[in-house]
Amino acid sequence: GPAPESDTDARQWLSRHAEGFGHFIGGHFTPASAGPHFDTAEPATGQRLAGIAQGSAQDVDAAVAAARAAQPGWLALGGHGRARHLYALARMVQRHARLLAVVEALDNGKPIRESRDLDVPLVARHFYHHAGWAQLQEREFADQVPLGVIGQIIPWNFPLLMLAWKIAPALALGNTVVLKPAEFTPLSALLFAELAAQAGLPAGVLNVVTGDGATGAALVAHEGVDKIAFTGSTDVGRLIREATAGSGKSLTLELGGKSPFIVFDDADIDAAVEGVVDAIWFNQGQVCCAGSRLLLQEGIAADFIERLKRRMQSLRVGLPLDKAIDIGSLIDPSQLERVRSLVATGVREGAVCYQPPGALPAGGSFFPPTLLTGVHPAATVATEEIFGPVLVTMTFRTPDEAVALANNTRYGLAASVWSETIGLALGIAPLLQAGVVWVNATNLFDAGVGFGGYRESGYGREGGREGCYEYLKPRAWAERKPRSAT
Ligand code: NAD
Repeated sequence: GPAPESDTDARQWLSRHAEGFGHFIGGHFTPASAGPHFDTAEPATGQRLAGIAQGSAQDVDAAVAAARAAQPGWLALGGHGRARHLYALARMVQRHARLLAVVEALDNGKPIRESRDLDVPLVARHFYHHAGWAQLQEREFADQVPLGVIGQIIPWNFPLLMLAWKIAPALALGNTVVLKPAEFTPLSALLFAELAAQAGLPAGVLNVVTGDGATGAALVAHEGVDKIAFTGSTDVGRLIREATAGSGKSLTLELGGKSPFIVFDDADIDAAVEGVVDAIWFNQGQVCCAGSRLLLQEGIAADFIERLKRRMQSLRVGLPLDKAIDIGSLIDPSQLERVRSLVATGVREGAVCYQPPGALPAGGSFFPPTLLTGVHPAATVATEEIFGPVLVTMTFRTPDEAVALANNTRYGLAASVWSETIGLALGIAPLLQAGVVWVNATNLFDAGVGFGGYRESGYGREGGREGCYEYLKPRAWAERKPRSAT
Protein backbone atom coordinates (compact mmCIF):
# COMPACT_ATOMS: atom_id res chain seq x y z
CA GLY A 1 0.00 0.00 0.00
CA PRO A 2 0.93 3.70 -0.03
CA ALA A 3 3.41 5.08 2.53
CA PRO A 4 1.75 6.32 5.71
CA GLU A 5 1.03 10.03 6.03
CA SER A 6 4.04 11.88 7.46
CA ASP A 7 3.71 13.14 11.02
CA THR A 8 6.93 15.18 10.91
CA ASP A 9 5.23 18.60 10.96
CA ALA A 10 2.84 17.55 13.71
CA ARG A 11 5.69 16.21 15.86
CA GLN A 12 7.64 19.42 15.29
CA TRP A 13 4.67 21.50 16.43
CA LEU A 14 4.29 19.28 19.50
CA SER A 15 8.00 19.56 20.29
CA ARG A 16 7.67 23.35 20.28
CA HIS A 17 5.22 22.80 23.17
CA ALA A 18 7.25 20.08 24.84
CA GLU A 19 6.93 21.82 28.20
CA GLY A 20 3.14 21.37 27.92
CA PHE A 21 0.31 23.57 26.72
CA GLY A 22 -1.21 26.41 28.67
CA HIS A 23 -4.67 27.76 27.94
CA PHE A 24 -5.13 30.13 25.04
CA ILE A 25 -6.44 33.34 26.61
CA GLY A 26 -6.36 36.89 25.28
CA GLY A 27 -4.39 35.99 22.17
CA HIS A 28 -1.60 33.89 23.65
CA PHE A 29 -0.84 30.79 25.68
CA THR A 30 -0.78 31.16 29.45
CA PRO A 31 2.42 29.77 31.04
CA ALA A 32 2.41 25.99 30.71
CA SER A 33 3.83 25.48 34.17
CA ALA A 34 0.92 27.12 36.00
CA GLY A 35 -1.51 24.68 37.61
CA PRO A 36 -2.14 20.94 37.25
CA HIS A 37 -1.70 19.09 33.97
CA PHE A 38 -2.81 15.83 32.40
CA ASP A 39 -1.63 14.00 29.30
CA THR A 40 -3.37 13.61 25.99
CA ALA A 41 -2.41 10.35 24.26
CA GLU A 42 -2.68 8.69 20.87
CA PRO A 43 -5.67 6.32 21.10
CA ALA A 44 -4.08 4.07 18.48
CA THR A 45 -0.88 3.43 20.44
CA GLY A 46 -1.49 4.70 23.95
CA GLN A 47 1.59 6.91 23.59
CA ARG A 48 1.64 10.34 25.20
CA LEU A 49 1.31 13.29 22.83
CA ALA A 50 1.39 16.34 25.08
CA GLY A 51 0.79 17.80 28.51
CA ILE A 52 -2.51 19.67 28.79
CA ALA A 53 -3.53 22.18 31.44
CA GLN A 54 -6.48 21.30 33.67
CA GLY A 55 -8.51 24.52 33.66
CA SER A 56 -9.60 25.88 37.03
CA ALA A 57 -12.41 28.30 37.84
CA GLN A 58 -9.74 31.05 37.83
CA ASP A 59 -8.63 30.09 34.31
CA VAL A 60 -12.24 30.14 33.14
CA ASP A 61 -12.65 33.53 34.80
CA ALA A 62 -9.59 34.93 33.01
CA ALA A 63 -10.87 33.61 29.67
CA VAL A 64 -14.36 35.04 30.18
CA ALA A 65 -12.82 38.40 31.12
CA ALA A 66 -10.71 38.37 27.94
CA ALA A 67 -13.75 37.49 25.84
CA ARG A 68 -15.83 40.21 27.54
CA ALA A 69 -13.14 42.83 26.97
CA ALA A 70 -12.83 41.90 23.29
CA GLN A 71 -16.54 41.77 22.47
CA PRO A 72 -17.36 45.48 21.96
CA GLY A 73 -14.44 45.96 19.59
CA TRP A 74 -15.31 42.78 17.71
CA LEU A 75 -18.91 43.94 17.32
CA ALA A 76 -17.77 47.42 16.28
CA LEU A 77 -15.87 45.93 13.34
CA GLY A 78 -19.25 45.39 11.68
CA GLY A 79 -20.33 42.45 9.57
CA HIS A 80 -17.90 43.19 6.76
CA GLY A 81 -14.98 43.55 9.15
CA ARG A 82 -15.77 40.25 10.83
CA ALA A 83 -16.27 38.57 7.46
CA ARG A 84 -12.69 39.45 6.53
CA HIS A 85 -11.50 37.61 9.64
CA LEU A 86 -13.69 34.57 8.95
CA TYR A 87 -12.42 34.37 5.37
CA ALA A 88 -8.90 34.56 6.77
CA LEU A 89 -9.68 31.67 9.14
CA ALA A 90 -11.08 29.60 6.26
CA ARG A 91 -7.95 30.20 4.18
CA MET A 92 -5.77 29.46 7.20
CA VAL A 93 -7.48 26.06 7.60
CA GLN A 94 -6.86 25.30 3.93
CA ARG A 95 -3.22 26.43 4.13
CA HIS A 96 -2.57 24.20 7.15
CA ALA A 97 -4.96 21.43 6.09
CA ARG A 98 -2.40 18.64 6.25
CA LEU A 99 -1.03 19.60 9.65
CA LEU A 100 -4.53 19.94 11.09
CA ALA A 101 -5.60 16.60 9.59
CA VAL A 102 -2.56 14.79 11.01
CA VAL A 103 -2.90 16.32 14.48
CA GLU A 104 -6.58 15.35 14.47
CA ALA A 105 -5.85 11.77 13.41
CA LEU A 106 -3.13 11.39 16.04
CA ASP A 107 -5.16 12.83 18.92
CA ASN A 108 -8.48 11.19 18.00
CA GLY A 109 -7.44 7.90 16.35
CA LYS A 110 -9.55 8.46 13.23
CA PRO A 111 -8.27 7.53 9.75
CA ILE A 112 -6.23 10.27 8.07
CA ARG A 113 -8.36 9.71 4.96
CA GLU A 114 -11.37 10.97 6.92
CA SER A 115 -9.72 13.89 8.72
CA ARG A 116 -8.05 14.98 5.47
CA ASP A 117 -11.00 14.52 3.09
CA LEU A 118 -13.99 15.21 5.35
CA ASP A 119 -13.29 16.93 8.67
CA VAL A 120 -10.86 19.60 7.50
CA PRO A 121 -12.65 20.53 4.23
CA LEU A 122 -15.96 20.78 6.12
CA VAL A 123 -14.24 23.04 8.67
CA ALA A 124 -13.01 25.40 5.93
CA ARG A 125 -16.43 25.36 4.30
CA HIS A 126 -18.05 26.28 7.61
CA PHE A 127 -15.91 29.41 7.96
CA TYR A 128 -16.51 30.46 4.34
CA HIS A 129 -20.24 29.99 4.78
CA HIS A 130 -20.41 32.01 7.99
CA ALA A 131 -18.20 34.74 6.56
CA GLY A 132 -21.12 35.18 4.17
CA TRP A 133 -23.61 35.54 7.03
CA ALA A 134 -21.34 38.10 8.71
CA GLN A 135 -21.40 40.17 5.53
CA LEU A 136 -25.17 39.98 5.43
CA GLN A 137 -25.74 40.50 9.15
CA GLU A 138 -26.84 44.15 9.12
CA ARG A 139 -29.29 43.46 6.29
CA GLU A 140 -30.60 40.00 7.19
CA PHE A 141 -30.67 40.30 10.99
CA ALA A 142 -31.42 44.02 11.38
CA ASP A 143 -33.69 43.42 14.39
CA GLN A 144 -31.24 41.12 16.17
CA VAL A 145 -28.23 41.74 18.40
CA PRO A 146 -25.46 39.34 19.44
CA LEU A 147 -25.68 37.59 22.79
CA GLY A 148 -22.22 38.60 24.04
CA VAL A 149 -19.83 36.03 25.51
CA ILE A 150 -20.48 32.42 24.54
CA GLY A 151 -19.23 29.38 26.47
CA GLN A 152 -18.86 26.41 24.14
CA ILE A 153 -18.22 22.81 25.20
CA ILE A 154 -17.45 20.15 22.61
CA PRO A 155 -16.89 16.37 22.44
CA TRP A 156 -13.96 14.32 21.18
CA ASN A 157 -15.44 12.62 18.13
CA PHE A 158 -15.00 15.52 15.67
CA PRO A 159 -12.84 17.94 17.64
CA LEU A 160 -12.03 20.41 14.90
CA LEU A 161 -15.35 20.16 13.09
CA MET A 162 -17.29 20.73 16.31
CA LEU A 163 -15.04 23.74 17.01
CA ALA A 164 -15.96 25.14 13.59
CA TRP A 165 -19.69 24.44 14.05
CA LYS A 166 -19.54 26.29 17.34
CA ILE A 167 -17.24 29.24 16.80
CA ALA A 168 -17.96 30.18 13.16
CA PRO A 169 -21.56 31.37 13.71
CA ALA A 170 -20.83 32.81 17.16
CA LEU A 171 -17.95 34.94 15.90
CA ALA A 172 -19.59 35.83 12.59
CA LEU A 173 -22.50 37.48 14.37
CA GLY A 174 -20.46 39.55 16.80
CA ASN A 175 -20.04 37.35 19.86
CA THR A 176 -16.78 36.32 21.48
CA VAL A 177 -16.04 32.80 22.70
CA VAL A 178 -14.57 30.69 25.46
CA LEU A 179 -14.22 27.15 24.08
CA LYS A 180 -13.66 24.05 26.20
CA PRO A 181 -12.51 21.14 24.01
CA ALA A 182 -12.87 17.54 25.20
CA GLU A 183 -10.11 16.31 27.50
CA PHE A 184 -9.22 13.46 25.07
CA THR A 185 -8.75 15.74 22.07
CA PRO A 186 -7.61 19.27 22.94
CA LEU A 187 -4.79 19.50 20.39
CA SER A 188 -6.54 20.65 17.23
CA ALA A 189 -8.33 23.43 19.14
CA LEU A 190 -5.02 24.65 20.60
CA LEU A 191 -3.38 24.50 17.18
CA PHE A 192 -6.33 26.32 15.64
CA ALA A 193 -6.18 29.08 18.26
CA GLU A 194 -2.44 29.53 17.74
CA LEU A 195 -2.86 29.70 13.94
CA ALA A 196 -5.85 32.05 14.27
CA ALA A 197 -3.76 34.52 16.25
CA GLN A 198 -1.08 34.34 13.54
CA ALA A 199 -3.83 34.97 10.97
CA GLY A 200 -4.71 38.21 12.75
CA LEU A 201 -7.78 37.26 14.78
CA PRO A 202 -7.98 39.97 17.49
CA ALA A 203 -6.90 38.91 20.98
CA GLY A 204 -9.69 37.67 23.23
CA VAL A 205 -12.19 36.92 20.44
CA LEU A 206 -11.45 33.17 20.71
CA ASN A 207 -10.19 31.75 24.00
CA VAL A 208 -9.52 28.05 24.63
CA VAL A 209 -9.56 26.65 28.16
CA THR A 210 -8.62 22.96 28.35
CA GLY A 211 -9.65 20.47 31.00
CA ASP A 212 -12.23 17.83 31.86
CA GLY A 213 -15.86 17.99 32.93
CA ALA A 214 -15.01 20.07 35.99
CA THR A 215 -13.61 22.79 33.73
CA GLY A 216 -16.77 22.56 31.61
CA ALA A 217 -18.90 22.85 34.73
CA ALA A 218 -16.96 25.97 35.80
CA LEU A 219 -17.69 27.54 32.41
CA VAL A 220 -21.37 26.62 32.69
CA ALA A 221 -21.52 28.18 36.16
CA HIS A 222 -19.69 31.41 35.27
CA GLU A 223 -21.94 34.45 35.64
CA GLY A 224 -20.18 36.36 32.87
CA VAL A 225 -21.27 33.89 30.19
CA ASP A 226 -24.39 34.82 28.20
CA LYS A 227 -24.93 31.48 26.54
CA ILE A 228 -23.76 27.88 26.73
CA ALA A 229 -23.61 25.85 23.53
CA PHE A 230 -22.95 22.19 24.24
CA THR A 231 -22.36 19.12 22.13
CA GLY A 232 -21.89 15.84 23.94
CA SER A 233 -23.73 13.12 25.76
CA THR A 234 -27.38 13.31 26.71
CA ASP A 235 -26.49 12.76 30.38
CA VAL A 236 -24.12 15.74 30.56
CA GLY A 237 -26.61 17.76 28.52
CA ARG A 238 -29.18 17.11 31.22
CA LEU A 239 -26.73 18.28 33.93
CA ILE A 240 -26.05 21.48 32.02
CA ARG A 241 -29.75 22.06 31.52
CA GLU A 242 -30.24 21.84 35.27
CA ALA A 243 -27.19 23.98 36.03
CA THR A 244 -28.33 26.81 33.73
CA ALA A 245 -32.02 26.69 34.68
CA GLY A 246 -33.07 30.04 36.09
CA SER A 247 -29.68 31.63 35.33
CA GLY A 248 -30.76 33.77 32.39
CA LYS A 249 -28.20 32.06 30.16
CA SER A 250 -29.27 30.87 26.73
CA LEU A 251 -28.62 27.22 26.01
CA THR A 252 -28.42 24.92 23.02
CA LEU A 253 -27.77 21.20 23.26
CA GLU A 254 -26.59 18.81 20.56
CA LEU A 255 -26.78 15.38 22.15
CA GLY A 256 -26.80 11.70 21.34
CA GLY A 257 -28.74 9.58 18.90
CA LYS A 258 -29.83 6.12 17.83
CA SER A 259 -30.68 6.86 14.25
CA PRO A 260 -32.64 4.46 12.03
CA PHE A 261 -31.45 3.36 8.61
CA ILE A 262 -34.51 1.97 6.78
CA VAL A 263 -34.14 -0.21 3.69
CA PHE A 264 -37.22 -1.24 1.68
CA ASP A 265 -37.39 -4.32 -0.56
CA ASP A 266 -37.10 -2.20 -3.70
CA ALA A 267 -34.00 -0.24 -2.64
CA ASP A 268 -30.83 -0.11 -4.70
CA ILE A 269 -29.14 -2.74 -2.55
CA ASP A 270 -25.54 -2.08 -3.56
CA ALA A 271 -25.92 1.62 -2.81
CA ALA A 272 -27.71 0.88 0.46
CA VAL A 273 -24.91 -1.48 1.59
CA GLU A 274 -22.36 1.27 0.94
CA GLY A 275 -24.67 3.67 2.77
CA VAL A 276 -24.66 1.39 5.81
CA VAL A 277 -20.86 1.27 5.79
CA ASP A 278 -20.76 5.06 5.82
CA ALA A 279 -23.60 5.33 8.36
CA ILE A 280 -22.10 3.11 11.06
CA TRP A 281 -18.40 2.59 10.35
CA PHE A 282 -17.44 6.19 9.54
CA ASN A 283 -15.35 7.52 12.47
CA GLN A 284 -15.54 4.08 14.16
CA GLY A 285 -19.25 4.68 14.71
CA GLN A 286 -18.46 7.47 17.15
CA VAL A 287 -20.91 9.73 15.39
CA CYS A 288 -23.93 11.35 17.03
CA CYS A 289 -26.06 10.80 13.92
CA ALA A 290 -24.67 7.31 13.12
CA GLY A 291 -27.22 5.08 11.40
CA SER A 292 -26.88 2.55 14.19
CA ARG A 293 -30.22 0.76 13.79
CA LEU A 294 -30.59 -1.03 10.45
CA LEU A 295 -34.26 -1.69 9.71
CA LEU A 296 -34.68 -4.12 6.82
CA GLN A 297 -37.88 -5.06 5.02
CA GLU A 298 -38.38 -8.79 5.31
CA GLY A 299 -38.12 -9.63 1.61
CA ILE A 300 -34.49 -8.57 1.33
CA ALA A 301 -33.29 -8.98 4.91
CA ALA A 302 -31.39 -12.28 4.55
CA ASP A 303 -29.73 -11.33 1.28
CA PHE A 304 -28.86 -7.84 2.55
CA ILE A 305 -27.19 -9.22 5.66
CA GLU A 306 -25.13 -11.68 3.60
CA ARG A 307 -23.93 -8.89 1.32
CA LEU A 308 -23.19 -6.66 4.27
CA LYS A 309 -21.09 -9.37 5.94
CA ARG A 310 -19.07 -9.79 2.75
CA ARG A 311 -18.51 -6.03 2.59
CA MET A 312 -17.45 -6.01 6.25
CA GLN A 313 -14.70 -8.47 5.39
CA SER A 314 -13.06 -5.85 3.18
CA LEU A 315 -13.06 -3.10 5.82
CA ARG A 316 -9.50 -2.50 7.02
CA VAL A 317 -8.85 -1.64 10.65
CA GLY A 318 -5.48 0.00 11.24
CA LEU A 319 -3.30 2.86 12.35
CA PRO A 320 -4.72 6.35 11.72
CA LEU A 321 -1.88 7.56 9.49
CA ASP A 322 -2.16 4.51 7.21
CA LYS A 323 -3.88 5.99 4.15
CA ALA A 324 -5.45 2.65 3.21
CA ILE A 325 -7.50 2.00 6.34
CA ASP A 326 -11.25 2.40 6.81
CA ILE A 327 -11.48 2.14 10.59
CA GLY A 328 -9.10 3.55 13.20
CA SER A 329 -9.04 3.38 16.98
CA LEU A 330 -11.81 4.13 19.45
CA ILE A 331 -11.09 7.14 21.61
CA ASP A 332 -9.76 5.39 24.71
CA PRO A 333 -9.71 2.11 26.68
CA SER A 334 -12.80 3.00 28.71
CA GLN A 335 -14.85 3.56 25.56
CA LEU A 336 -13.48 0.27 24.17
CA GLU A 337 -14.61 -1.48 27.33
CA ARG A 338 -18.03 0.15 27.14
CA VAL A 339 -18.53 -1.01 23.54
CA ARG A 340 -17.30 -4.52 24.38
CA SER A 341 -19.65 -4.85 27.29
CA LEU A 342 -22.65 -3.54 25.32
CA VAL A 343 -21.99 -6.13 22.61
CA ALA A 344 -21.78 -8.83 25.30
CA THR A 345 -25.09 -7.59 26.71
CA GLY A 346 -26.58 -7.78 23.22
CA VAL A 347 -25.54 -11.40 22.87
CA ARG A 348 -26.80 -12.20 26.36
CA GLU A 349 -30.15 -10.70 25.40
CA GLY A 350 -30.36 -12.99 22.36
CA ALA A 351 -28.61 -11.27 19.44
CA VAL A 352 -26.23 -13.06 17.09
CA CYS A 353 -22.88 -11.31 16.73
CA TYR A 354 -20.86 -11.19 13.51
CA GLN A 355 -17.34 -9.75 13.28
CA PRO A 356 -15.17 -10.31 10.21
CA PRO A 357 -12.04 -12.37 10.83
CA GLY A 358 -8.68 -10.60 10.98
CA ALA A 359 -6.21 -9.35 13.55
CA LEU A 360 -6.44 -5.90 15.05
CA PRO A 361 -3.40 -3.68 15.67
CA ALA A 362 -2.00 -4.19 19.16
CA GLY A 363 -1.64 -1.48 21.77
CA GLY A 364 -4.56 0.78 20.94
CA SER A 365 -8.32 0.84 21.52
CA PHE A 366 -9.29 -1.05 18.38
CA PHE A 367 -12.64 -2.77 17.91
CA PRO A 368 -13.76 -4.60 14.77
CA PRO A 369 -16.82 -3.66 12.71
CA THR A 370 -19.66 -5.55 14.37
CA LEU A 371 -23.12 -6.64 13.28
CA LEU A 372 -25.81 -7.81 15.70
CA THR A 373 -28.73 -9.63 14.09
CA GLY A 374 -31.90 -10.98 15.63
CA VAL A 375 -32.15 -8.00 17.93
CA HIS A 376 -35.37 -7.47 19.84
CA PRO A 377 -36.66 -3.87 19.61
CA ALA A 378 -36.62 -3.60 23.42
CA ALA A 379 -33.08 -5.01 23.79
CA THR A 380 -30.43 -2.81 25.40
CA VAL A 381 -28.41 -2.63 22.18
CA ALA A 382 -31.51 -1.51 20.25
CA THR A 383 -32.22 1.39 22.58
CA GLU A 384 -28.87 2.54 24.06
CA GLU A 385 -26.48 4.69 22.06
CA ILE A 386 -23.36 2.47 21.69
CA PHE A 387 -21.16 5.15 20.09
CA GLY A 388 -18.93 2.54 18.50
CA PRO A 389 -18.69 0.45 15.30
CA VAL A 390 -21.68 -1.72 16.22
CA LEU A 391 -24.75 -2.05 14.01
CA VAL A 392 -27.98 -3.68 15.17
CA THR A 393 -30.56 -5.00 12.71
CA MET A 394 -34.28 -5.57 12.93
CA THR A 395 -36.86 -6.37 10.29
CA PHE A 396 -40.26 -4.96 9.36
CA ARG A 397 -43.07 -5.89 7.01
CA THR A 398 -44.97 -2.70 6.17
CA PRO A 399 -44.14 1.00 5.89
CA ASP A 400 -46.22 1.63 9.03
CA GLU A 401 -44.13 -0.91 10.91
CA ALA A 402 -40.95 0.75 9.63
CA VAL A 403 -42.08 4.13 10.93
CA ALA A 404 -43.11 2.69 14.30
CA LEU A 405 -39.77 0.89 14.71
CA ALA A 406 -37.80 3.94 13.56
CA ASN A 407 -39.55 6.23 16.04
CA ASN A 408 -39.27 3.75 18.89
CA THR A 409 -36.43 5.69 20.54
CA ARG A 410 -35.95 8.54 22.97
CA TYR A 411 -33.65 10.21 20.46
CA GLY A 412 -34.37 12.01 17.19
CA LEU A 413 -31.26 13.24 15.44
CA ALA A 414 -31.19 11.68 11.96
CA ALA A 415 -32.87 9.05 9.80
CA SER A 416 -32.09 7.49 6.46
CA VAL A 417 -34.66 5.93 4.09
CA TRP A 418 -33.83 3.79 1.09
CA SER A 419 -36.33 2.96 -1.66
CA GLU A 420 -36.43 3.30 -5.43
CA THR A 421 -40.12 4.24 -5.11
CA ILE A 422 -39.62 7.91 -4.45
CA GLY A 423 -43.26 8.37 -3.39
CA LEU A 424 -42.76 5.76 -0.68
CA ALA A 425 -39.52 7.34 0.57
CA LEU A 426 -40.96 10.85 0.55
CA GLY A 427 -44.16 9.61 2.17
CA ILE A 428 -42.20 8.09 5.05
CA ALA A 429 -39.77 10.97 5.55
CA PRO A 430 -42.15 13.43 7.26
CA LEU A 431 -43.35 10.73 9.65
CA LEU A 432 -39.86 10.17 11.06
CA GLN A 433 -39.06 11.99 14.30
CA ALA A 434 -35.62 13.26 13.35
CA GLY A 435 -33.95 16.62 12.81
CA VAL A 436 -32.62 15.47 9.44
CA VAL A 437 -33.95 12.80 7.08
CA TRP A 438 -31.72 11.54 4.29
CA VAL A 439 -33.40 9.86 1.32
CA ASN A 440 -31.28 7.26 -0.50
CA ALA A 441 -28.30 8.86 1.22
CA THR A 442 -26.66 9.23 4.58
CA ASN A 443 -24.26 11.59 6.39
CA LEU A 444 -24.85 14.53 4.08
CA PHE A 445 -23.74 17.68 5.88
CA ASP A 446 -23.73 21.21 4.64
CA ALA A 447 -22.81 24.44 6.41
CA GLY A 448 -25.96 25.99 4.97
CA VAL A 449 -28.36 23.47 6.52
CA GLY A 450 -29.31 23.56 10.18
CA PHE A 451 -28.27 20.37 11.96
CA GLY A 452 -29.77 19.34 15.29
CA GLY A 453 -32.10 17.01 17.09
CA TYR A 454 -35.60 16.36 18.36
CA ARG A 455 -36.49 14.91 21.74
CA GLU A 456 -33.47 13.75 23.82
CA SER A 457 -31.10 14.53 20.96
CA GLY A 458 -31.31 18.13 22.12
CA TYR A 459 -32.43 21.44 20.69
CA GLY A 460 -30.97 24.25 18.66
CA ARG A 461 -29.50 24.08 15.17
CA GLU A 462 -25.98 24.48 13.81
CA GLY A 463 -25.50 25.77 10.28
CA GLY A 464 -27.47 27.99 7.94
CA ARG A 465 -29.85 30.79 8.86
CA GLU A 466 -31.44 28.87 11.74
CA GLY A 467 -27.99 28.33 13.23
CA CYS A 468 -27.35 32.10 13.12
CA TYR A 469 -30.43 32.77 15.25
CA GLU A 470 -28.86 30.67 18.04
CA TYR A 471 -26.24 33.40 18.48
CA LEU A 472 -28.57 36.39 18.28
CA LYS A 473 -31.44 37.76 20.27
CA PRO A 474 -34.30 39.87 18.96
CA ARG A 475 -34.35 43.54 19.78
CA ALA A 476 -37.45 45.61 19.11
CA TRP A 477 -37.10 49.36 18.73
CA ALA A 478 -39.76 51.96 19.42
CA GLU A 479 -39.30 55.67 19.31
CA ARG A 480 -41.61 58.43 20.48
CA LYS A 481 -41.40 61.61 18.49
CA PRO A 482 -40.54 64.68 20.62
CA ARG A 483 -43.65 66.81 21.25
CA SER A 484 -42.17 69.79 19.48
CA ALA A 485 -41.81 67.84 16.23
CA THR A 486 -45.27 68.37 14.77
P1 NAD B 1 -19.49 14.08 27.19
O1 NAD B 1 -20.84 14.62 27.44
O2 NAD B 1 -18.90 13.15 28.17
O3 NAD B 1 -18.44 15.25 27.03
C1 NAD B 1 -18.65 16.33 26.16
C2 NAD B 1 -17.95 17.55 26.70
O4 NAD B 1 -18.57 17.95 27.91
C3 NAD B 1 -16.48 17.34 27.03
O5 NAD B 1 -15.76 18.50 26.66
C4 NAD B 1 -16.48 17.17 28.53
O6 NAD B 1 -15.28 17.53 29.15
C5 NAD B 1 -17.59 18.11 28.93
N1 NAD B 1 -18.24 17.82 30.21
C6 NAD B 1 -18.32 16.64 30.88
N2 NAD B 1 -19.01 16.79 32.02
C7 NAD B 1 -19.38 18.09 32.09
C8 NAD B 1 -20.14 18.85 33.03
N3 NAD B 1 -20.66 18.31 34.12
N4 NAD B 1 -20.34 20.16 32.77
C9 NAD B 1 -19.86 20.73 31.66
N5 NAD B 1 -19.13 20.06 30.74
C10 NAD B 1 -18.90 18.75 30.94
O7 NAD B 1 -19.62 13.46 25.75
P2 NAD B 1 -18.47 12.72 24.92
O8 NAD B 1 -18.37 11.34 25.46
O9 NAD B 1 -17.26 13.55 24.83
O10 NAD B 1 -19.10 12.74 23.46
C11 NAD B 1 -19.92 11.72 23.02
C12 NAD B 1 -21.36 12.18 23.00
O11 NAD B 1 -21.53 13.37 22.22
C13 NAD B 1 -22.26 11.16 22.37
O12 NAD B 1 -23.40 10.95 23.16
C14 NAD B 1 -22.65 11.79 21.04
O13 NAD B 1 -23.84 11.33 20.53
C15 NAD B 1 -22.64 13.22 21.35
N6 NAD B 1 -22.47 14.04 20.16
C16 NAD B 1 -23.52 14.74 19.67
C17 NAD B 1 -23.40 15.52 18.53
C18 NAD B 1 -24.56 16.30 18.00
O14 NAD B 1 -24.37 17.18 17.19
N7 NAD B 1 -25.78 16.04 18.40
C19 NAD B 1 -22.18 15.58 17.88
C20 NAD B 1 -21.11 14.86 18.39
C21 NAD B 1 -21.27 14.09 19.53
